[in-house]
Amino acid sequence: MSVCLWVCLFSFWVNDPPFGLIIHGGAGTIERHKMSADLDAEYRRALKTALAAGYEILQKGGSCEAAAIATIKSMEDSPLFNAGRGAVFTNNGKNEFDASIMLGTGEAGACAGVRNIKNPILLAQAVMNSTPHVMLAGDGAVAYARELGLEFETDSYFFTEKRWKQLKKAKVKEKEQSHDNKWRKFGTVGVVALDKQGHMAAATSTGGLTNKQFGRIGDSPIIGAGTYCDNETCGVSGTGQGEFFMRSVVAYDVAALIKYKGMRLQEAVDEAIRKLSDKKGSGGLIAMNTKAEIAFSMNTKGMYRGYRISDGRHVVQIYGDEH
Ligand code: ASP
Repeated sequence: MSVCLWVCLFSFWVNDPPFGLIIHGGAGTIERHKMSADLDAEYRRALKTALAAGYEILQKGGSCEAAAIATIKSMEDSPLFNAGRGAVFTNNGKNEFDASIMLGTGEAGACAGVRNIKNPILLAQAVMNSTPHVMLAGDGAVAYARELGLEFETDSYFFTEKRWKQLKKAKVKEKEQSHDNKWRKFGTVGVVALDKQGHMAAATSTGGLTNKQFGRIGDSPIIGAGTYCDNETCGVSGTGQGEFFMRSVVAYDVAALIKYKGMRLQEAVDEAIRKLSDKKGSGGLIAMNTKAEIAFSMNTKGMYRGYRISDGRHVVQIYGDEH
């Protein structure tokens, strides 16, 4: 009798569908010796908080979409990351946001170049769920957000001293640097979540690049470039120099390498980053599949990242040499 009970419990445990999530908080010149112990700890805490926000939803049987949104929202509300509250400044001293979400079943939504919306990811989600479109931009997107009753904030909410200083510095350096190497610090946030039902969602949100021409739109809201999700292959979110991710359709490339070349997840992610390096672009990627395999890769010094999976894997990392 008790043997039977153990066998039943064991088979239940074995067959329990895996779930979990992987996140990034941006890649770039993030170096151990330049980071204070306090700031290092603050980032790790914020990454853990974001992971917990999504994980709790997945654990209760919630959807990958709900988990992805809660995770991104947590990072958009933190002043540490370049998304929502901590967004970088454009060349005219404003904040403009791009965000997107895609489900493994193919639905997608995005918003681009929007201002003053507290959580741009909620607008991307609404575009996916409540309109026949995939992307809304500019004034029309903002008007739609108002119609939905989404929360707005004044410019001062998005003002952080750190980002303002970065803008000033970027303006000084602007003239010294080449066209494509102007931007070295990224901080976009992204997630791929897998729920107990075996579905995935990938989402990305950003303030873009410091000192970007106002009106510039990056890869993060572009399905296939900064975000991609397909239950058959993988979910992907990227961070880095968006122009390179757009030209090489990097997020979709990871899925295509799996689908058409039969690569494993980590191999595909590494190959996409290798191709990015070949083109002299820089950045990082996170990816996950429905077997709860996770992968990340970057050609930058670091990438804020973490994952929490139902089999007990629970990790947050910052620097390139952490494994
Ligand atoms: N990829 C983003 C962009 O180009 C920037 C980043 O990842 O930080 O807008």
